Amino acid sequence: MAALHLINDTNLHQEEDLAALLSLTDPEQIEQLRQRAEAMTLQQVGHRVYFRGLLEFSNRCALNCLYCGIRRDNDAVARYTLSLEDIRHGARRVAERGWGSLVLQSGENASAANVDFICNAVRCIKEDTRSSRLPSGLGITLSAGVYSIDVYRQFFAAGAHRYLLRVETTDADLFARIHPADQTLAERVQALEDLRAAGFQVGTGVMIGLPGQTCRMLARDVLFFKEMDVDMVGMGPYQPHRDTPMAGLPIISAEERLALALRMIAVTRLVLKNVNIASTTALEALSPSGRELGISFGANVAMPNVTPGSERRKYQLYDGKPCLDEAADESGIALRQKIESLGRIVGIDEWGDSRRFCDR
Ligand code: SF4
Repeated sequence: MAALHLINDTNLHQEEDLAALLSLTDPEQIEQLRQRAEAMTLQQVGHRVYFRGLLEFSNRCALNCLYCGIRRDNDAVARYTLSLEDIRHGARRVAERGWGSLVLQSGENASAANVDFICNAVRCIKEDTRSSRLPSGLGITLSAGVYSIDVYRQFFAAGAHRYLLRVETTDADLFARIHPADQTLAERVQALEDLRAAGFQVGTGVMIGLPGQTCRMLARDVLFFKEMDVDMVGMGPYQPHRDTPMAGLPIISAEERLALALRMIAVTRLVLKNVNIASTTALEALSPSGRELGISFGANVAMPNVTPGSERRKYQLYDGKPCLDEAADESGIALRQKIESLGRIVGIDEWGDSRRFCDR
């Protein structure tokens, strides 16, 4: 009964209330939570689900996050950076499919040459993809790590207008346990503020089911998203990678991580209401229907992978990454059919910007 009261509360803001919803185990109550989050999604951001073609343009990274398969010290990874031509080709294919937006994702590399490369790629994509269907070209989201505010301004001036920078957890102790000592939560929070100041629509997110993570911590993560007034949220279940220092640490089962990630999406939708929330590939690593489950629990964005198949296998942040079959994911047809089977439609030739940002 108490849970039903919380599910229907339109002003959820207490840590203990959010933690109670994240801790639900009763299937009927979880279904009520899902229905409420779905109704909130339709009311606040509409029926459309927006695709962003995901182009993982480089797996080179200067950092050493302890959970990440492409961390600097993992010598087993064959490193690559796509050529400018390959990036432009991938972007044109996204525009031809009518998806409207592209995510350029990479490891972190603050060299001046890399900053110039990204700016040039963004400018070229904009030039290449302007058409009568898409007069301003593809919407471009960058997800490439922490830089100075001056660099963020260069990225924005080049034509990117959204930026994803996940904090992974807002719990200071947990953050310190999953990162080397030279990386801090404060630095990422400052970067989110810099991104906002540079003009970006700002997204962040966390991993769900990390070793030692509690529902209280996740509840505080959601309250952090609200306090930062973010425009977009991208979260996924934690999936270990065998070649990382965190491999082998005890975690909850895959089934529990998936279920917790779905409740996290629902609770984030109920608290933040009109933001864009991604149904991430990591959900699909735990269930073949992971991404549509994410949509049905309150997400409204999906990111079909358009990285060339030869390189896609080298961008494994975690074990069991799905969508390694280029043909299956790049077409997006199966994903589109799954989304339509939920009574939703895929937005075509639209950027699908965050309603939160547009209304601000
Ligand atoms: S999570 Fe990102 S920043 Fe950290 S090691 Fe992996 S690619 Fe680099």
